[in-house]
Amino acid sequence: MARPSSIELKSAEQIIKMRAAGLVVGRTLKTVREAARPGVTTSELDALAREEIAAAGAVSSFLGYGGGFGLPPFPAVTCISVNSEIVHGIPGERVLAEGDLVSVDFGVSLHGWHGDSAITFAVGTPSPEASALCETTRQAMWAGIAAARIGGRIGDIAAAVENSVRSRKLGYGIVAEYTGHGIGTAMHQSPDVPNLGRPGRGELLAKGICLAIEPMLTLGSAATATLDDEWTVVTRDGSLAAHWEHTIALTPAGVWVLTAEDGGEAELAARGVKFGPLAD
Ligand code: MG
Ligand code: MG
Repeated sequence: MARPSSIELKSAEQIIKMRAAGLVVGRTLKTVREAARPGVTTSELDALAREEIAAAGAVSSFLGYGGGFGLPPFPAVTCISVNSEIVHGIPGERVLAEGDLVSVDFGVSLHGWHGDSAITFAVGTPSPEASALCETTRQAMWAGIAAARIGGRIGDIAAAVENSVRSRKLGYGIVAEYTGHGIGTAMHQSPDVPNLGRPGRGELLAKGICLAIEPMLTLGSAATATLDDEWTVVTRDGSLAAHWEHTIALTPAGVWVLTAEDGGEAELAARGVKFGPLAD
C-alpha cells in the first residue's frame, strides 16, 4: 500500500497524544478478550469494540480502510482472524468454539494520532501446540521491541524477531509478506518493519520514531493466501497462525510501548531495556 517515503518523527507532545490513542486500543483489546468465549460471534466482539471507540470519542483506523487502494472498504473496526487465518479476518457470524485460536487486531485515532495493536489468545483451553505458538509470537514481538533504540536500525528489530523464533527450533513459519510499519498521523507510514532481517541494515531509528512491531507466525509453512473476500489472509497449508502487535515510541529516555497498559515497563525491565515514558 502507498506510504510516504520520509519518516515522520514525533515531538514529545505528539507522542503523548499517541499514548492516549494507544491506551484506548489496549483497553479495547482487553474488553474483547474478556468477552470471547464459546458461543460468541466475531461480530459481537466487533460491536464491543465499536462501543469502546464511541465512549472514547475516537475514530476507527480500520473501518472503510482500503477503498483508496482498490480493495473493498474494510467493513469492521477489528480484524478477527481465527485458527488458520493469519490477519485481516472480517468479523461476522462465525461462532467461536472451545479451543479456537483468535487474533484480534485493532486500531484507532484520537485527535488525529493513531495506535495499532494485536493480541492472540485461545477460547477456553488451548492445545499445547496453539499455546506454544501464541507465546512464541508474543515473545518475538517483545524481542523486536527490546531491540529498538535510538541510533539503531530497522534491521536490528527484524533480526531480533527472527532470532527469537529461530532460536526455539520449533520449525515455525515467519510470515514475510506482511510487516510492521511506521505510525502516527496515519496508521500505515514509512518505514516497513520486517519480521526477518539482519542487524545494522535498513533505516536509522531516530528520536521520535513511532513503529508498529507485529510478528505473524505459523505452525507450518509461512506461505499465505487471500480469501475471495479480498481481505482474509490464511495459511496456505491450513496450519494455525498467531499475531501480536504493539505501537512503540523511541524517546530520549528509552522505549515507550504506547498500546500496553503499563507502557511496557514490566516486559522491558525483564529484558534490561530502558523504559521511556514522557510526562504530560
Ligand atoms: Mg494492527
Ligand atoms: Mg499494524
